Amino acid sequence: MAKTTKKKKTTSRRRAGEPVQSLRDRLHNLALNLRWSWDPPTQRLFASIDPDLNDALNRNPVALVNHAAPHRLERLAGDADFLTRLKGVEQDLQRYLKHKPWYARNHTPKQRKMRVAYFCAEFAIHEAFPMYSGGLGVLAGDHLKSASDLGVPLCAVGLLYRYGYYKQEIKPDGGTHPTYPPYDFDQLPITDTGKTIKLKIGRRDVVAKVWLAQVGRVPAYLLDTDHPRNKNAEDRAITHYLYGGDNETRIRQEMLLGVGGVKALEAVGEDFTVLHLNEGHAAFAPLEVVRQHVDGDKLPLDEAIELVKPHTVFTTHTPVPAGHDRFDVKLARKYLNPYLTRSKITTNQVLKLGSEAPSDRAMPLCMTALALRMSDHRNGVAKLHGKVSRQMWKEFHGCAKSKDVPIGHVTNGVHPQTWLAPEAYPVYDKHLKADWLNATPTADPWAKAKSIPDDELWQTRSMLRRRLVRFARNHSQQRALRMGAGAAELARLSDLLDENALTIGFARRFATYKRAPLIFTDLKRLMAIVADDAGPVQFIFAGKAHPADTGGQAYLQQVVQMSQKPGFKGRIAVLENYDMQIGRMLTSGCDIWLNNPLRPNEASGTSGMKPPLHGGVNLSILDGWWPEGYNGKNGYAIGDGREYTSQAKQDRYDAGCIYDLLENEIVPKFYKRGKDGVPKRWVKVMRESMRSVPAQFSTHRMLGDYVSGYYLPAHG
Ligand SMILES: *Cc1c(COP(=O)(O)O)cnc(C)c1O
Repeated sequence: MAKTTKKKKTTSRRRAGEPVQSLRDRLHNLALNLRWSWDPPTQRLFASIDPDLNDALNRNPVALVNHAAPHRLERLAGDADFLTRLKGVEQDLQRYLKHKPWYARNHTPKQRKMRVAYFCAEFAIHEAFPMYSGGLGVLAGDHLKSASDLGVPLCAVGLLYRYGYYKQEIKPDGGTHPTYPPYDFDQLPITDTGKTIKLKIGRRDVVAKVWLAQVGRVPAYLLDTDHPRNKNAEDRAITHYLYGGDNETRIRQEMLLGVGGVKALEAVGEDFTVLHLNEGHAAFAPLEVVRQHVDGDKLPLDEAIELVKPHTVFTTHTPVPAGHDRFDVKLARKYLNPYLTRSKITTNQVLKLGSEAPSDRAMPLCMTALALRMSDHRNGVAKLHGKVSRQMWKEFHGCAKSKDVPIGHVTNGVHPQTWLAPEAYPVYDKHLKADWLNATPTADPWAKAKSIPDDELWQTRSMLRRRLVRFARNHSQQRALRMGAGAAELARLSDLLDENALTIGFARRFATYKRAPLIFTDLKRLMAIVADDAGPVQFIFAGKAHPADTGGQAYLQQVVQMSQKPGFKGRIAVLENYDMQIGRMLTSGCDIWLNNPLRPNEASGTSGMKPPLHGGVNLSILDGWWPEGYNGKNGYAIGDGREYTSQAKQDRYDAGCIYDLLENEIVPKFYKRGKDGVPKRWVKVMRESMRSVPAQFSTHRMLGDYVSGYYLPAHG
């Protein structure tokens, strides 16, 4: 009691005493640890500074603190309640950083000396820090957050892009208009480490600045060549665009990520014991370590490789051939020759290491091949993908049977707190164990979802759907305003979608194998499903295709044009500029998550792991993670895994299965209500989804698998 009184006194004494500059500094410091990106109380604190400005700035707290009106900060500096809340979240962050996490509690001193350097070309931490294009980045971002929560000793290496991926505007005819607004690094949650590195990229020495993004306990070092010391515009442009430019830009970026990344770790004093290449983009990293052994320690090349391989983990992410970087011999030489001028390693040796057929001297440098030859620990990202990868790299390994190919799998996951709607917390606080947010790889707080009463689960689901519908209306009106729409159009959009209708979401990169327009295969049948007044069904689409992927762009256009057909109007929405915010809204708000890739092209997919956190239900082809997730009661499988040789046949078969499921299973269950208005049979499927998916497909479980199966063996 005495303590509380004392505290109160301090607060009141300081009421007019918190100088605005000191408040600004405290808020700025808080914003610099990206833990806020998965902590709703910190997000609410920032939003309360100026809710409209916060939204206008994409919920970026650094920009918010920099741009907040002085009179608002002055008022808050004298607002005891605000200062108490600020103190609360500051203390909570300190507690988070200091508390002894799972890794430290469960490993020996020798194991605690492990330090993983995790390399990736993209990281998706938050929509306000847009250094990502899609699933690979989202997975990498979630990987860092779980590593932080679990205390897995890990640091990250990536690039800091001036223009990121593109911002998507959808034209009235459904065409894509990409724009590239530059990011002002002063407004991003990063700090300058004060370190720069230098490396040969082509004929010139290129300088890169090393930035730090602090993700909870995990530091992410990001390289940026847009630096005045680089006199050549080409060099400054290396880190301008994520997956932009031609193959030459790509090899420059990958030299920077791999070779530059290793140098950056040395510059900041990070002593790693394990290298994790998240995708082949970073395969030059182990090469640089090998080069140091050869040139510094005077080891022969093969010995140096044998020294590095046991400590390298390589995760491959796609069975799609275009997803594997290949550089033709001429281009590869142009960059390897200068890099290796003073080295004992020759360009021919590296070309051989990166060749899919070393006897053929014209073979391009394949980054996946190089990564495979530089790593003893390799994995695909789902059980099925492991199998597909072993098949794909069988010849490469000279194995007669694909089961002998040394590639395993760690199934992907999602970081629960990143994807869980803050509005759902109260239900879980009430019904799950008190420590349901506590991160360990094996904890399954969702097992207790069984005890959430039907009506409460249904109310939560309905509330999140309403939130999504309002968001979709607002988002569509913003787009209409930009295009100069009149009052009638805006009024029509305020009626877009129905807050109570069965809502199906489809959002992902518009790569063609994902078949976004598949649902439109039989228009008549779909229209009857959508327009059934007794049980209406509605769709929300979002997604970007790579600017150079004309097929993907055409798919988007097709979906937009379909949504404008009179029979669908108001029941199919397309949201432009799919990002993490839209991802959160859709995966928390939709009743059904639709996924219909052409099997077996989806390595894992992770978006379908997000809806079950909110009782959303998957309707998916048995591809990627779904064959592991589907148990016959927690969602729906499209087809039976049958693979046709003709795609047209496959499309008709798969679409037919979707219509059948909607007509015979899903719609009847969703609309059959009890006296209390609750669809009992549907809630049963929801609950089974919520009970069975989140723990198994969380990045906490995934990190546990990496630690035991890959990181610790690589640490040695
Ligand atoms: C989850 C997510 C992804 C990954 O989705 P896939 O299922 O792998 O296609 C991509 N982008 C965003 C914005 C996401 O939230």
